[in-house]
Amino acid sequence: MTHALQYDASLADLRRAVRGEVLLPGDAGFDAARRPWNLAVDQPAAAVVTAADAADVAALVRFAAGAGLAVAPQPNGHGATGRTEGAVLLRIGALDAITVDPVARRARIGAGVRSGDLQRATAHHGLTALPGSSPVVSVAGAALGGGLSWFSRAFGWVADSVVAFDVVDAHGEERAVTAATDPDLFWALRGGGGDYAVVTALELSLRDAARVHGGRVLWEGRHTGVVAEAFRTLTADAPRELTLWLELLHFPGAEPMVAIDTTFLGPEDEARDLLAALDRLPPRRSPTPAARCPSPSSGASRPSRPSPPRE
Ligand SMILES: Cc1cc2nc3c(=O)[nH]c(=O)nc-3n(C[C@H](O)[C@H](O)[C@H](O)COP(=O)(O)OP(=O)(O)OC[C@H]3O[C@@H](n4cnc5c(N)ncnc54)[C@H](O)[C@@H]3O)c2cc1C
Repeated sequence: MTHALQYDASLADLRRAVRGEVLLPGDAGFDAARRPWNLAVDQPAAAVVTAADAADVAALVRFAAGAGLAVAPQPNGHGATGRTEGAVLLRIGALDAITVDPVARRARIGAGVRSGDLQRATAHHGLTALPGSSPVVSVAGAALGGGLSWFSRAFGWVADSVVAFDVVDAHGEERAVTAATDPDLFWALRGGGGDYAVVTALELSLRDAARVHGGRVLWEGRHTGVVAEAFRTLTADAPRELTLWLELLHFPGAEPMVAIDTTFLGPEDEARDLLAALDRLPPRRSPTPAARCPSPSSGASRPSRPSPPRE
């Protein structure tokens, strides 16, 4: 009982500790604010804070440390686990600044920036970052987990493209982290997850935007064996410019499907030669051949998806 009373007092003080929006249980909008992108996960939280900026993140961490509260950063909730009971859920969508230096081929972004927004900003300069399958995933969330991209076979993981992080550490101190300043933390942040610090900004290296040919090809699930075998054969000696993903899909109310997602950084005729084995498989479910991204300026190179995108 004593513990519960202290807890409530701490949460009430939270509104004075940070400048961003604080929502507590019972507040209008609290349930919507704690909901992750992944609606299958029910996510309890002691409070939801939308940080105004990096200094606000630092203020929150210092306050939480003093009050014995955990802080759970969650830009979006694609990777929501629901293990947030008693924690302050930290939303960082307001940290959404993007600066592209086309000469240095670098981008500096806030930790709330979404992959699709970064793609649009870099495409404007004929450059690209490393997009994955969802344009609404945060670049920070993807990089902290490694981040597999449509271009990964040619250019590596999203984490490989990070050259610097701005973080708030467990003491509530703002720090710039690079391979030179803090090699161990820099190593851990690039794929080790979000438990080492709260990332507030990143600097990434960019690539020239190549011409892309790619798309998703779908078959009925009963053909999974032959499709998987074709995938194994194709990937055994595919050039680095060709990325293939094999996916088993089972949407509610639909028959299971198997898919191969293809991305080729090169001309269409070369892609068709490399993927000719797919033409010899059983008839496809997908009504159209692979989608094309005709020019780098068309932004995020995302093959067509059978499920509607969600913001
Ligand atoms: C439809 C869909 C498509 C996907 N496609 C791909 C893909 O192509 N390639 C790929 O690699 N992954 C993919 N994923 C996985 C996705 O990249 C991860 O789940 C990623 O963490 C989601 O980013 P988010 O912004 O939603 O993070 P959230 O789910 O909001 O956060 C996930 C975790 O990351 C950590 N975290 C996030 N931001 C910060 C921060 N600023 N500071 C500290 N910790 C932080 C926290 O520990 C948090 O719990 C996909 C997921 C889905 C649902």
